[in-house]
Amino acid sequence: MAILKVARLGHPVLRRVADPVPLKEIIRPETQRLIDDMVETMHEYVGVGLAAPQIHVSRQIAVLECESHPRYPEMPRIPLMVILNPVLTPLSEETDADWEGCLSIPDFRGVTPRYTAVRLEAYGRKGERIELVAKDFFARVLQHETDHLNGKVYVDRMRDFMTLSHLQEWSRHWREQDRGAG
Ligand SMILES: [Zn+2]
Repeated sequence: MAILKVARLGHPVLRRVADPVPLKEIIRPETQRLIDDMVETMHEYVGVGLAAPQIHVSRQIAVLECESHPRYPEMPRIPLMVILNPVLTPLSEETDADWEGCLSIPDFRGVTPRYTAVRLEAYGRKGERIELVAKDFFARVLQHETDHLNGKVYVDRMRDFMTLSHLQEWSRHWREQDRGAG
C-alpha cells in the first residue's frame, strides 16, 4: 500500500466531474489497490473521508470512516465505507450548518450548510449495490465526498465566508467541536 499525495485547491483535478467506474472494473486488482491506497492515505492524514480526485485520480470513488477520534471522542462514528458512482438524493429540504474542513484546503474550517438526511445509492468495493439513508454527520460526510466527485468543494456550499477561518484562529475563537476534514 502507499500513501498518496493529496491535491490542493487550485489543482484542476478537483474541479472536474470524475468519471464513473464501470461495474466490471471495480473488482480489478488496480481498482482494489487504488482503494487500499486511498484508505491508507485517509488514515495517514486523519481525514474522515477522501475522494479519488483528491489523490489526482478523476474517478468516482470515495472512502469514508470516522472511528474514535483521539482528540474528540464525542464525534459520531462511521464504519469504514467505500463508495463508487454514488448518487445522493436529499430526503427533505431541511439543512443544518456545521463546521467542515478538507484535506485539499489544509488548515481551514468553515460553516457549511448540508441536507440533514440523504438517500445514498452506490456500489461497494466488491461491486455490490449500496442503498441506505444517512442522517446528520454521516449525511454531511457523504455530501462532502460526493461533491468532490462532481468537482465541488465545501467552500462552494458556504452561504458566505464570514466563518472561513484559519485553523489556528479557529482554535482560538470558534472552536466548539472539530468535525474533522474530508
Ligand atoms: Zn474534502
